[in-house]
Amino acid sequence: MKALISIDYTNDFVASNGALTTGEAGQAIEKALLAVTELFTQNNDFVVYAIDRHEADDSYHPENRLFPPHNLAGTAGRKLYGRLADYYEQSKGQANVYWLDKRHYSAFSGTDLDIRLRERRITELHLVGVCTDICVLHTAVDAYNLGYQLFIHKDAVASFDGTGHQWALKHFEQTLGATIVE
Ligand code: ZN
Repeated sequence: MKALISIDYTNDFVASNGALTTGEAGQAIEKALLAVTELFTQNNDFVVYAIDRHEADDSYHPENRLFPPHNLAGTAGRKLYGRLADYYEQSKGQANVYWLDKRHYSAFSGTDLDIRLRERRITELHLVGVCTDICVLHTAVDAYNLGYQLFIHKDAVASFDGTGHQWALKHFEQTLGATIVE
């Protein structure tokens, strides 16, 4: 069984005026990311929207020192970007579509993702979204340590850091044993 983990494709991470945007690199993957999402949703695979959620007054969060405020609960910045937003609205009632609030880079950190996957006997994780070398990477590392088999959809991941993006793709393949899907 397989699942798609769709990471942080929100206005703050993708729109030109987003708080922590990948800009054109993130916008360029919209079509590919949507196509993969449609395929998994239609095939009745488990589709997880793993989306950063921060509180404005969370003074203990380690990201405060590193990044400007982003994906704040209840703001437009936390809404999914572009056509993915419309597709999520259409499909969100389906039993195989799951919205997961996350507070750290990894979709596994402090969430029920692992148990949701295990109850469905899912062993294969397909990752898409942003940023390749931050939230996608940390999710992939945790998935590797938990024994999942990884597939990274190259045309559906992006970063604001081109060098970090390339490094992460190599790391997925050579260190985490992931299959890079072209
Ligand atoms: Zn964050």
